[in-house]
Amino acid sequence: MRYSLASLFANALTGNRNWKPVWREPEPKPSYDVVIVGGGGHGLATAHYLAKVHGITNVAVIEKSYLGSGNVGRNTTIVRSNYLLPGNEPFYEWSMKLWEGLEQDINYNAMVSQRGVLNVFHSDGQRDAFVRRGNAMRFHGADAELLDKEQVRALVPFVDFENARFPVKGGLYQPRGGTVRHDAVVWGYARSADQHGVDIIQNCAATGFRVENGRIVGVETEKGFIGAKKVALSVAGSSSRVAEMAGMRLPIEAHVLQAFVTEGIKPLLDTVITFGAGHFYCSQSDKGGLVFGGDIDGYNTYAQRGNLPVVEDVAEGGMALIPAIGRLRILRSWGGLLDMSMDGSPIIDQTHIDGLYFNGGWCYGGFKATPAAGWCFAHLIATGQSHPFAAAYRFDRFASGRVIDEKGMGAQPNLH
Ligand SMILES: Cc1cc2nc3c(=O)[nH]c(=O)nc-3n(C[C@H](O)[C@H](O)[C@H](O)COP(=O)(O)OP(=O)(O)OC[C@H]3O[C@@H](n4cnc5c(N)ncnc54)[C@H](O)[C@@H]3O)c2cc1C
Repeated sequence: MRYSLASLFANALTGNRNWKPVWREPEPKPSYDVVIVGGGGHGLATAHYLAKVHGITNVAVIEKSYLGSGNVGRNTTIVRSNYLLPGNEPFYEWSMKLWEGLEQDINYNAMVSQRGVLNVFHSDGQRDAFVRRGNAMRFHGADAELLDKEQVRALVPFVDFENARFPVKGGLYQPRGGTVRHDAVVWGYARSADQHGVDIIQNCAATGFRVENGRIVGVETEKGFIGAKKVALSVAGSSSRVAEMAGMRLPIEAHVLQAFVTEGIKPLLDTVITFGAGHFYCSQSDKGGLVFGGDIDGYNTYAQRGNLPVVEDVAEGGMALIPAIGRLRILRSWGGLLDMSMDGSPIIDQTHIDGLYFNGGWCYGGFKATPAAGWCFAHLIATGQSHPFAAAYRFDRFASGRVIDEKGMGAQPNLH
């Protein structure tokens, strides 16, 4: 069924009894051309573009839990393409362009809201760094505006401009950035992939890989063995554990990132504000809650829950930027499991096993990358060649030293 104004009216007139399930619940077939492990945003986007762009539809996505149970349903929904380095900026700008056409492409309302993303700065040095970043963005066709203090005040008058430690002196603004409803992204990509014939199999964890003569021949799963000509791993925070089953040791660590939402309030914040110096970022959801987060928890873990010191740190960041936030009650907080790479940048590459492909290392920023990661991963799987936008995201950069260290933090994943 295609969603349209006509289908909305027709279903309303028949008591909304004829809506079809958004995707089927098939049992796995004995074998597929491609099995994608991980039904997060990236895995489902890959399935969608494999089918729609490359015509490869004999595909299964296997997910160990329910769709959206991972980071794609836990993130703070921010999308932007404000990157500095040449390996990154064209990729993330392509992702922004795909976001802009996503709802038409998948025929699903993903609530793409280009409400702008504002990074505030507090010193001359930080301003210079933002000018450089803004110029790099514009060189690659992205939008970036340097705002002075009064222009920032017009956008977010409630910010503490005279904070003794972090006086706000201006900001770098990307008007095309914003937010996208994360669950809708999962459901929309899943529905489109399903309509193209992709089997989406929930509650079906991969438990091992079968390799013969250096070539992948299938995946062991909780629902039995599934044969596959190609297998694509897209399991985000579980990357190290899943790759270990294929004998790989990845340059990736698992860390928790927490997020928070307050009780609903009247419209206050109609852009996304990020406060890098204080490790705090915030937007307002359509239900009225302020959605915010900050730094990752510094230790390694596979548990999807965080610790109190980061809660305190994020609260301090929020109070420093928006003192009024102290009047609000936090409704919920949660954690997600991040795949933090050694240079803070992702990997989309083939592995040492023929037919086994890997997509991961997205750190805390893989939601905005969902469309482009799916696009480039599908290209790699279909053609065997890296897509030009993801050409830098290869494993061998760690051996050759051509790392993409956007933040300049060195090989310390918890600082990226
Ligand atoms: C609190 C938080 C806030 C964030 N905020 C932002 C943000 O504002 N903007 C942004 O760009 N990014 C953000 N991110 C990062 C972003 O959410 C992730 O980088 C991105 O979602 C990762 O890709 P994914 O959607 O495919 O991952 P996931 O949704 O985690 O998908 C991976 C899937 O693999 C499945 N899986 C694992 N092991 C197996 C197995 N053995 N067999 C089968 N399936 C398996 C998991 O169950 C999971 O569903 C945030 C993350 C968190 C946690």
